[in-house]
Amino acid sequence: MQIVSTIKEMCSISEGVRTAGQIIALVPTMGYFHEGHLSLMREGRRRGDVLVVSLFINPAQFGEDEDYASYPRDFSKDKNIAEGIGVDILFVPTVEEMYPEGYQSFVEVETVTKPMEGQFRPTHFRGVTTVVAKLFNIVRPHSAIFGEKDFQQLVVIRRMVEDLNMGVEIIGMPIVRERDGLAMSSRNTYLTFEQRKAALNLNRSLQKASQFFRSGERNPKRIIEAAKEVIEREQDVTIEYVEVRDAKTLEEIEIIREEAVIALAMKVGKVRLIDNLVFRDP
Ligand code: AMP
Repeated sequence: MQIVSTIKEMCSISEGVRTAGQIIALVPTMGYFHEGHLSLMREGRRRGDVLVVSLFINPAQFGEDEDYASYPRDFSKDKNIAEGIGVDILFVPTVEEMYPEGYQSFVEVETVTKPMEGQFRPTHFRGVTTVVAKLFNIVRPHSAIFGEKDFQQLVVIRRMVEDLNMGVEIIGMPIVRERDGLAMSSRNTYLTFEQRKAALNLNRSLQKASQFFRSGERNPKRIIEAAKEVIEREQDVTIEYVEVRDAKTLEEIEIIREEAVIALAMKVGKVRLIDNLVFRDP
């Protein structure tokens, strides 16, 4: 596995790979790898002749009061894991490399970034789309793999790629969960034993919603209410949002007819967690 930290070197490798007619798959990450990341990498391994994983904790997607400084980091462990999976290139640029002095260009996707995460993290998606656009220009992948864990992010990136004719195939992969149902996340390491127990209510509430849907309920309001009721059983938990929206456009819906998603965010103590589930007709 090659570790590349400059944009210049990464560009020249991509150029060579493309000229040789080989396929590049990219998995963008912020590191501190868990099974969720690994499932994306394995998919990338299947799709690409050359698999590039980027590891960059992107300051532009963190709000001022968020956890950029304390975000978990363990480069030597990540390096070994990536090597074990068969990653060809681990691209690890510094912040100065990605945002040098004088930097002033940003990519903004409009409507679809406004609800849900956008309400609580108003500058987040601008940071995400900017860094992903930069990574696409540097790595020039044929396909890029993202997790459904960040469902809105996936919808936003698909929109950006289509609107700006980026010509990258976007692949979404299912959420990987711990045995007890908690969606894997680098941020789970912040949780104390008690908080982790409380966090299980997130998935429990989605299971309740899913049960409602399977029994024929198609009214988002009633499904949301049932999900909230499960979350609120725990103390030390604050709901930010629970929403049911169209899975492709994230538009609000009165009644579930097409594929829909229930997405939610809550805080357990100071730790912010998100999760979601797609309602698919059997
Ligand atoms: P992150 O390092 O948290 O920015 O995540 C990098 C990529 O991994 C994103 O596309 C995430 O959606 C994806 N991801 C994170 N957690 C999971 C999970 N539990 N299951 C599937 N994909 C995930």
